[in-house]
Amino acid sequence: MSRIVCKFGGSSVADHTQFLKIRKILQANPKRTVVVPSAPGKRNSGEAKLTDLLYLCHDMAQKKLSLDGPFSLIRDRYLDIEANLGLKAGMAQVLENFRKEIEEGATRDFTASRGEYLCGILMAAFLGAEFVDPKDTVFFDKTGRIDPKTYEVLGKRMSDEKKLYVLPGFYGVDVKGHIKTFSRGGSDISGAIAARAVMAEMYENWTDVSGLLMADPRIVENPHPLDEVSYREIRELSYMGANVFHDEAIAPVRDVGIPINIRNTNRPEDPGTLIVSKLPAVTKYDIAGVAGKKNFSMFSLEKNMMNKEIGFARKMLGIFETKGVSIEHVPSSIDSMSVVVSSEEINDKTEAILEDIRRILEPDTLEVEQDLSLIAVVGEGLSHQVGQAAKVFIALRDANVNVRIIDQGSSEFNIIIGVDNGDYEKAIRALYAAMMTPNPAFKG
Ligand code: ASP
Repeated sequence: MSRIVCKFGGSSVADHTQFLKIRKILQANPKRTVVVPSAPGKRNSGEAKLTDLLYLCHDMAQKKLSLDGPFSLIRDRYLDIEANLGLKAGMAQVLENFRKEIEEGATRDFTASRGEYLCGILMAAFLGAEFVDPKDTVFFDKTGRIDPKTYEVLGKRMSDEKKLYVLPGFYGVDVKGHIKTFSRGGSDISGAIAARAVMAEMYENWTDVSGLLMADPRIVENPHPLDEVSYREIRELSYMGANVFHDEAIAPVRDVGIPINIRNTNRPEDPGTLIVSKLPAVTKYDIAGVAGKKNFSMFSLEKNMMNKEIGFARKMLGIFETKGVSIEHVPSSIDSMSVVVSSEEINDKTEAILEDIRRILEPDTLEVEQDLSLIAVVGEGLSHQVGQAAKVFIALRDANVNVRIIDQGSSEFNIIIGVDNGDYEKAIRALYAAMMTPNPAFKG
C-alpha cells in the first residue's frame, strides 16, 4: 500500500479541537500514515503564533530578562491541548526543563524548533503514533541545503507501511549535530522531505484555505479557485507572492514526481488545489493565475556601443554580487541595460552601487527608479499560442496602465510586467479579467 504524507500547518494544530479534526481526516483514508505538524498557530487574530513567542523568549533570555510573560502563554497553549484531549504526556515537566534550557542560553534555532517538537509529542500521544525526531533523521549539509542522506535515513526510520508516524516539521540538524531550522513556514519543506523519503503517492498539505486562488482576493473580487496547477506554475506564483505554500518545498517532491494537494483542515470535503508535474493537454483556462509584488528598484544605464564591450554585463552583475544583492530581472537593449532588484534587499546600498557602476562601467547615463511593481501572468497555456501577449498588453492599455518593464521567460509560460506601484492593483484586475476567458476546447 502506498502512503500519503499529511502536513498540518499552524492553524490546523492551534488547539485541541483541531487535533480532533486531524484524527478524523486520518481515519477517512488509511493511506494517511505520516503526519508532519507545525507549531500551534493563532487561535484568533489577536493572538501570537507560538513560534513568534519562542523567538521572543530567546531574545529576552539573551538580555537576561524574565521569561514569565511569554513563556506562560506558551505553557498554557500546550497544557490546554494536553488536558483537553485527556493526555498524560508529562508536558508540565517537559516545559519546565525547556524553560531552563532557554534561560541557560539555548540557541535561537533550538528554541524555535521546540514549537514543532512539543506539538509532535502531543500529536503522537494523541494518535497513538510513533514519534520520529528530525534530530536523528533530517540533515543539513554544510551549505545549509538538505543532505540527500536524509531521504535514506528517514525512509528507513519510517519503513513500516502499517505504522502511523509523527515527524515534527521545521527543523533538522547541521553537520555538527546542532538543531537547525528551515526559514519561516519551513514545515512545508519537512513535509515534502518526508513524502520523498517514504516515496508517498501524495503529499497533502493541510492548511486553513481550500487551496490557492487564481489572484489575490484582496485585489480581485471572488477570484476562481485553482483546481490543478503544475510545479513550475506554482513555483512562479508562490515566488510572486501567492503565499500558501513555501516555494522551497516543491523541489524534494518535484524531483520524484509526487503530487501535492493543498487542503483545508476545516473543510476536508473540499478538493483543494492539486499540484502535478504535467497538466492535461487542455485546461479550462490558459493561465494558472496572476500574482505580483510591489517595491522593486531598477538601475538603468545607457552606454554607446555597449554591445561591443566584452564583459560589460558580467561587470554590471558582478557589482550587485559583491554587494550581496540578488537580482530579479535584467531587461536590456543594444546600448542600455537595467537591473531590477527588490527594494527591501537594496536598502542602504543604493549609493554604493551607483558609485561602483559609475567608476567601473563609465556609463553615458545612469538612473535608479524606485516604487516599481512586478506582475506575473503565469500559465502553461501561454506557451506556443499566438495572441497571448497581445491580450496582456491590450488589457493594460484599456486600463490605462503604463508598462515599464516587459520580460518573458524563454519557456513562455510566464509574462512579467513591471508597472508603477500606483498602478499595481489596477493592472492585476485588468490582467485577471482579460486572461480568465474559458478555453473553448475544454470539456470538463
Ligand atoms: N512554525 C514555523 C513558523 O512559524 C514553521 C511553520 O509553521 O511552517 O514559521
